[in-house]
Amino acid sequence: MAGGLIPIDEARAFVLQRCPASLAVSADTLPGRFPASVLGAVVATDVVSAEDVPPFANTAVDGYAVRASDVVGASTQTPVTLKVTGEIAAGAAAIVIVESGCAVRIMTGAPMPAGADCVVMVEDTEFDGDRSVLDGTQTVRIMKAAKTGDGVRAVGDDVRIGDVVFAAGTAITPAVAAVLASINARTALVHHRPRVAVLSTGDELIDDGSTLAPGQIRESNRSMLVGLVDGCGAQAVDHGIVRDDEAVLETVLRRAANECDAIVTSGGVSMGDYDVVKAVLSRIADMRWMQIAIKPAKPFAFGLLTNDRGVAVPVFGLPGNPVSSLVSFELLARPALRRMAGHPEAAWDRPVVAAIADQPLKRGRDGKVHYQRVVARFAADGRLHVESVRAQASHQLAATALANAIAVVPDGDGVPAGGEVPVILLVT
Ligand code: AMP
Ligand code: MG
Repeated sequence: MAGGLIPIDEARAFVLQRCPASLAVSADTLPGRFPASVLGAVVATDVVSAEDVPPFANTAVDGYAVRASDVVGASTQTPVTLKVTGEIAAGAAAIVIVESGCAVRIMTGAPMPAGADCVVMVEDTEFDGDRSVLDGTQTVRIMKAAKTGDGVRAVGDDVRIGDVVFAAGTAITPAVAAVLASINARTALVHHRPRVAVLSTGDELIDDGSTLAPGQIRESNRSMLVGLVDGCGAQAVDHGIVRDDEAVLETVLRRAANECDAIVTSGGVSMGDYDVVKAVLSRIADMRWMQIAIKPAKPFAFGLLTNDRGVAVPVFGLPGNPVSSLVSFELLARPALRRMAGHPEAAWDRPVVAAIADQPLKRGRDGKVHYQRVVARFAADGRLHVESVRAQASHQLAATALANAIAVVPDGDGVPAGGEVPVILLVT
């Protein structure tokens, strides 16, 4: 490995080994309507349903509940005429009984009436008379045969009582939250989502909107890192910009370690850096300063800062260059935070798929794996195709911000046009 660079897999394993597997479990109440507070959390025990969904047999279509034996052979040419004896709307109890030779008008979601065993959709029927009148004298012509069960949703054919609907380790997505509501699961045991302090370091950074003084730049990494932390199932706590001042940095880091489960810093970890971040973290935490065999995001630091309660809090020292910060977070912090959040191993990393490079992904040999930001799109040949976002320097976040994937280009001469390349999809 060139110049003592650490392979990315080794750095990742080092970080994962030292982060807690998952945090404490707590019973979270699932508030009625929109359980935003539990979205992204991971259930800690199997969720077993105490209810059937649907709770009763009901119709999947608007139409007429009938007996299949009454409509054998029905077609447009040979319709079967049945007497309409009632109507059931969704939310109503099915008090009518469908006798042979009869039909009951029924709306989607309404309970199946006794006697009927199937529903013919309204499009395959013709009501004889004024639809607004139903006094027992009207008839309907059924123009399509139906089998028992047609148009009917059986009790529990989505979820049955006693089913393990969600195994431990399932993340609560909006759809999972809806299923929890459907089975009346009002509380769930969920892993605590790690609270992650996010802070930026550097005397050149400002974020107050004022005119830039010579040498100053606008701070940008926190906006990105807060979003990435929240998006991976953890909870970001913004600790602002910290000046290159050892006493201030130490105070902020110690407060962060007391209030949070992990700390993400950006800036001050590269070789040539003015050594405030290094000086403070080396003194108060057990740190490893790394040079990883990747581009961008070569410099990276990881360590444990013991807080006042004796808890060793992971510290992720990301490089300050915005693109490096992003790649470093994706490859090293994100899997560890997802592990801490209770996600199973298969869900620690983003999905990686094979794609075709539409243009060459150029690079030279340097002993590093290059993570080139690309735009991926599914094409008519049934393959995923990628194109570089072009500007690939580590300060050029504007181009990278439009990427939806990162191509993993191994050491060598790059990927030719039409060549295959693995890409990390920037979706969960
Ligand atoms: P550093 O990692 O501190 O050596 O910073 C590397 C480069 O990234 C320098 O050009 C910094 O000005 C820039 N940089 C550091 N932190 C940030 C930040 N939070 N937002 C925007 N740029 C940053
Ligand atoms: Mg700096």
